[in-house]
Amino acid sequence: MKDYTWETILTALSKEIPQDLISKWIKPLSLKDIHKNIFILNAPNKFVKAWVEDNYVQTIKKVFKEEFSIKSEIEIEIIVEGDAKKETFTAYEPQTETIEDDRDFFSLPLDNLYTFENFVPGHSNNFAYSACMAVASGFKSEYNPLYIYGDIGLGKTHLLQAVGHQLHKNFPKLKILCIQGDLYLQDFTSSLRYEHKLEEFKRKYASIDVLLCDDVQSIAKGPKTQEEFTYLFNKLFATKKHIIITSNTKPSEIANLDKRLSSRFSSGLMVAVQSPSVDEKIAILLKHLEIRRVEMDIDVVHFLANNLNTASVREMLGCLTHLTTSAELSGTDITIDFTTDKLKEFLIVRDKTLSPEKIMSIITDFFHLKPVDLRSKKRSKNIVYPRSIAMFLLREKTQLSLAEVGFLFDRDHSTVLTAVNKISEQEKTDPELQGTLETLRRKMKLDGGGN
Ligand code: ADP
Ligand code: MG
Repeated sequence: MKDYTWETILTALSKEIPQDLISKWIKPLSLKDIHKNIFILNAPNKFVKAWVEDNYVQTIKKVFKEEFSIKSEIEIEIIVEGDAKKETFTAYEPQTETIEDDRDFFSLPLDNLYTFENFVPGHSNNFAYSACMAVASGFKSEYNPLYIYGDIGLGKTHLLQAVGHQLHKNFPKLKILCIQGDLYLQDFTSSLRYEHKLEEFKRKYASIDVLLCDDVQSIAKGPKTQEEFTYLFNKLFATKKHIIITSNTKPSEIANLDKRLSSRFSSGLMVAVQSPSVDEKIAILLKHLEIRRVEMDIDVVHFLANNLNTASVREMLGCLTHLTTSAELSGTDITIDFTTDKLKEFLIVRDKTLSPEKIMSIITDFFHLKPVDLRSKKRSKNIVYPRSIAMFLLREKTQLSLAEVGFLFDRDHSTVLTAVNKISEQEKTDPELQGTLETLRRKMKLDGGGN
């Protein structure tokens, strides 16, 4: 342990990572311990941990190995220790007493469903999620403002409001304002009509402890509103109040946004939310089914995640609502056929015929064989049987002739005919084969065969 100093690593890393990023992400780390080949680093909070894990672990590993001439493989583990709480309370000390008539204003009209518990973190939103968690836990962040951007329906409002809920719970006295950009615009425009209203407007906004501004792009629509917002932003920023902003684009891409404001927005931490992967979609669907206490066959959940023609979580959940409501109204079970029927216009249109390669790979996967096994001359039962099933299903699912199917297996058409007839006969009476065929057909359907 003696020989391994973090300073050595820090100096070496400075050659690989720009200085400002070193200060932001690497300097806060320390070398805590070493267990065999595992180097344990301490991070000040979960957010730094997540960020370093996603961006710098490989570089850190490489530098450790080089600097200390380690030949074997090593692992880097990051833990979070220490007491962020102390810092927390000073960071979130409300600045003034709440004035009675402001109560409604700060009473957080948040959606009860938009909490962290109801949010599924994943690859597409990990940074935004960790950053929001860090702010919500009271971590006095240098990453101010936190700017979250991405397409519509990807969970920005949900995350923003989750921060609101959590902060409100942890620090009930805080004056948290969660406001939509266009509501701010409206509020400001209407206050312009009367002088006393404008003063009230300014006073209200200036007493905020935490500003959560959703869809900030809307404020750029009014030049005067923008000016006022810049003033508010600067004031909050100068007094180290936390600001989280969401938008549909990066600041530089917001039409008519003042250059100074744009650079202010970019000066803290900017994180994107992206469209979820199929696995994340499955997790989100399951979470929402749990919230709604609706049961659904897992095959249908997979089918939705794979086949809904949208990148937006909001649209996906809209389809889920449509589906579950239709099933409830008609008293029907939600099957893949029912889903296909109800959500016709929302499904990806696929080539109705599955490719022979896809069929072969579904069958070889199922029987744990390789495609070459099916084409081989081997005559053992564990290969002949899947081979016959493959020929049978190729005839059923594609337009290939007996001879064409035979060609795929290096056999003639009569061999294919015999195999197909045999499986077809056996299917009528053999429950095991019936089960196997049902599973394989379902897999082919899930893969987009449709028929
Ligand atoms: P945005 O503000 O980016 O347009 P929203 O926050 O309004 O998107 O999200 C749209 C819907 O999708 C909401 O119902 C939200 O709860 C849900 N949602 C989005 N992402 C997730 C997620 N990762 N986990 C759970 N629900 C999500
Ligand atoms: Mg939104």
